[in-house]
Amino acid sequence: MQLSSLLNRFNEPETLKMAKLGRELRAKGIDVIDLSLGEPDFDTPQHIKDAAIKAINDNWSHYTPVPGFLDLREAVCTKLKRDNNLDYAPENIVTSTGAKQSLANAILALVDEGDEVVIPTPYWVTYSELVKIARGKVVEIRTTVENGFKTTAAELEAAITPNTKVFMFSSPCNPSGAVYSKAELEALAAVFRKHPNITILSDEIYEYINFVGKHESIAQFADLKDRVVIINGLSKGFAMTGWRLGYIAANATIAKACEKLQGQFTSGTCSITQKAAVAALTGDLRPSEEMTEEFTRRRTRTLELVKEIPGFKCFEPEGAFYVFPDVSAYYGKSDGTTTISNAADFSMYLLNTAHVSSVMGDAFGEPNCVRFSFANSMGNIEKAWGRIKEALSKLK
Ligand code: PLP
Repeated sequence: MQLSSLLNRFNEPETLKMAKLGRELRAKGIDVIDLSLGEPDFDTPQHIKDAAIKAINDNWSHYTPVPGFLDLREAVCTKLKRDNNLDYAPENIVTSTGAKQSLANAILALVDEGDEVVIPTPYWVTYSELVKIARGKVVEIRTTVENGFKTTAAELEAAITPNTKVFMFSSPCNPSGAVYSKAELEALAAVFRKHPNITILSDEIYEYINFVGKHESIAQFADLKDRVVIINGLSKGFAMTGWRLGYIAANATIAKACEKLQGQFTSGTCSITQKAAVAALTGDLRPSEEMTEEFTRRRTRTLELVKEIPGFKCFEPEGAFYVFPDVSAYYGKSDGTTTISNAADFSMYLLNTAHVSSVMGDAFGEPNCVRFSFANSMGNIEKAWGRIKEALSKLK
């Protein structure tokens, strides 16, 4: 059987591959600690679960409007005003089965064959693959641990060509944890003002998991707002990864285009999830704040433990729940059996020797780094980093 050539254009997510390998070892009875996956380990807050149970009992069991129920889109607008001081109307909002689908909708709505999409490295695995699916061209801007994994106006300007269609980034960033300040966004905005045909995809899904202060959206610059597509969702901030709820806020033309695409792919997301999402977006944010407080404690402890590892160069994450150290000091080293040549070898060595799963940086466009999550219990974090330290001490 001949499968379509589309399948050869993109890769399966490396994050999911590592989680699968970890599960396979666990099935053999090995105690694997998972620092590979990107999801809060908390339960969804009770008031959100209650709203879902009520929605089931009230028989919200039918197909929904493709962009989502009106009350949900109004709730997204309320959230954008409350948290970001941004004015949007329900016609600007399309909800979906996760920020991943929202990104796919937006890329497919905007990118044609040969269009260039500028993405600063490191970036979330899915960005480059979606661009490839759309037959666009990924143009990377390489940022490094030394410059806080952020792109500058000069680097952005240099990456732009007449074929640039889209710039996409996340702040807080998965995997680096970089968070753009208002001044840093203003510097990028000045470049975008000179290039009016570029659309900016601003992935803000880690908005609430911010360790350095207030979240800033590039959509706050009024003259750019119409060219910004905000991507967000409930997975990270409300511990709702399995519920599948993402959304965009965009100009009405892009919103309509996303609705058209989604109308053929999935239709509206789960009705029960939508009703629960209204409770999440308009309800008490204290449970979300408590999760971030716990992530803050784990971040502090993780950074203490990472400092004990010789050879790591580690940026202190300003948001999200990952550390993303440069591990290249270990390249060329061996324990007598295994030689580490790259981040993939490094990750596999830790999985097989320390029984800790991580994700190699290549998947994020940064081959010298490896991503370790701290969305795991303090006990597991302590245990995992103890094992990592011991396994790495055997490499000479
Ligand atoms: N954007 C970033 C930066 C992410 O890390 C993730 C999930 O890992 C997503 C989007 C997708 O989130 P969702 O669960 O809403 O599809």
